[in-house]
Amino acid sequence: MVKMSKYITHMDMSIPQLPYIYEIEPTNHCPYTCIMCPRGAGKMARLTGYMNLDDFARVLTMFPEEQRVVRLHHFGEAILHPQIDTMIKMVDRAGLISVISLNPSTLNENISRKIVDAGPGIVCFSLDAFTDSGLMKVRGIKKTYHKCIELMDSFIKIARNSDRNIVKVIQTVALDENSRGSHDTQSDSSDDLNGIRSGNAGNAKSSYCTAQKALDELKIKYPEPDVFFYSADNTGFGDLDLVEKTKTGGSGPLLKNASPCAAPFSEVSVLWNGDVVLCCYDYDGFNVVGNIRYNTLEEIWKGNSIERVREIFLARSTDRLTLCSRCFLAPHNFRYKIPLCEKNWREERVLMDLISTANRLIRSE
Ligand code: SF4
Repeated sequence: MVKMSKYITHMDMSIPQLPYIYEIEPTNHCPYTCIMCPRGAGKMARLTGYMNLDDFARVLTMFPEEQRVVRLHHFGEAILHPQIDTMIKMVDRAGLISVISLNPSTLNENISRKIVDAGPGIVCFSLDAFTDSGLMKVRGIKKTYHKCIELMDSFIKIARNSDRNIVKVIQTVALDENSRGSHDTQSDSSDDLNGIRSGNAGNAKSSYCTAQKALDELKIKYPEPDVFFYSADNTGFGDLDLVEKTKTGGSGPLLKNASPCAAPFSEVSVLWNGDVVLCCYDYDGFNVVGNIRYNTLEEIWKGNSIERVREIFLARSTDRLTLCSRCFLAPHNFRYKIPLCEKNWREERVLMDLISTANRLIRSE
């Protein structure tokens, strides 16, 4: 259980001295056009840029004492930041653990060596399509599937030949594209790999598809304990329309597990220009509550801007906030008796468990 010193009890909500820093955006530059991402869908209007190292160093001094994980991504391909390796090393020097997420197609040998040498704790490879045309359709990736696997494989080999303990996660977001594929083998199994189901949601008979076969092959290729496979929910970054357009079975299962967001009482994310926003869905700086260039996070956390947002959340009138009004997790979508719910520390524990499991398994090999 994480202990936090509380400075205020706001009606029924306790607020930590400092918020959990959910993620930091090294850059919002991105060459891809991912169909499940508002940025990829062309909705992002803010300026593109790269976080400078002075700002990054400042953010690293603002983490709550108990937090260890530093996610280096938001709405961009983080490894395109020219100093991403320096950022990873700075995280390490601060006694924290960096997590980066990347598209294998962005890698080349030089970038892979640079990242491995810097020593991130976890590297997530986003792999949501398993054919050349699927990659193009889902993320606008022009490289072939074979080439992407080759680049990922090269990274994994470089990492394994280094003295760094890097956990690798091959992550797939459940989408129509990777669930349907070509249904060339029928199966009665309802226990589909990683929760990825094939096309017809109403059909009890599920079928192995291209994605499952490709994932099966990757699991055989990487049986070692430093490689994990993870099927992520397609949340549409809060936008159910985006989910309905891109996910087999629509948003029903997602809504079943949804609980009202408690972001202004628990977490923030930091954009490349130092703007502090409430959550990882904020692709365009809708809910900016301060900027770390002008104030410490503690000042921002106790400031009037965020206090106004807290009042809105407590009154369950989040339909007044542009981004939240479209978010299925916004409190106005839930009955009052359902309490606001924090997710950040729970997710931190999952990542820390992943690292310790990998280390334990590697040691016991
Ligand atoms: S309700 Fe608002 S702050 Fe919370 S996750 Fe949705 S968009 Fe983000």
